[in-house]
Amino acid sequence: MQFALVVGQKHEASPGLAGHCPGCGQPVVAKCGDQRMWHWAHLRKRKCDRWWESETPWHRAWKENFAREWREVINCDQNGERHIADVRTALGLVLEFQHSRLDPQERAAREAFYGNMVWVVDGTRLKRDWPRFYKGTTAFRQTALDVTHRVPCPEERFPYEWLASSVPVFFDFAGDGSADEPEPARQLLWCLLPGRVDRYAVMIAVSRQMFLEGAMRRPQIIDVTERLNAVALELQLELQQQRDKEREEARRHAQWRSYRNQQILQSHKPRRR
Ligand SMILES: [Zn+2]
Repeated sequence: MQFALVVGQKHEASPGLAGHCPGCGQPVVAKCGDQRMWHWAHLRKRKCDRWWESETPWHRAWKENFAREWREVINCDQNGERHIADVRTALGLVLEFQHSRLDPQERAAREAFYGNMVWVVDGTRLKRDWPRFYKGTTAFRQTALDVTHRVPCPEERFPYEWLASSVPVFFDFAGDGSADEPEPARQLLWCLLPGRVDRYAVMIAVSRQMFLEGAMRRPQIIDVTERLNAVALELQLELQQQRDKEREEARRHAQWRSYRNQQILQSHKPRRR
């Protein structure tokens, strides 16, 4: 954890400091070594929130884009279940930054608990994830909605554990910046929307700045329903145009055949003497 309560105030770890966990109230100590980022650790038990993962510099860098009071916020449901959200904005949007692999069941439980949330996934953890994704970008169908893409066969592009997510999942393929491929596409955040349109997944590419502005100023970064509806409508129109074109081709072909048949008939008519 980045913060603990020291005399009731949210405090970052610094050498020799002791405090209390804002989640469970147990004593925590400041860990300020050279190996890992400075953080707080429980004195006795290892974790009070089973959903909490050890922070990496990637986590910390993302969280530091947000106001201090929005970071590591305790969320409590009506049954008394408590979890610490990485970020919860003043408008109630929860952002969870996920570096390690997440079991789909736990993913679903966390989505149900937080409700209005998005994931930001470290897309550099597995070397294969970026090449697999990037290879498929040629097959993406860009829609008229500017940065929105239709993705055929999403299961071939995205890690399995995120495919059935019920909330937007932003893949950060640049990670902490140590990845060696400098493609500009890698600097974008690629958001997989929940739900499908026909056989397509819908994906939106956004800059980091757009993402942060959306997260800070709006209760949702992306209006998912609006996007999916717009993409569905566009697809419907495309299919209609395709059907009209096929019908027109069939009509022309039939016309041409009837003309040819007439010509053949005429050429076989016996000549009058
Ligand atoms: Zn605790």
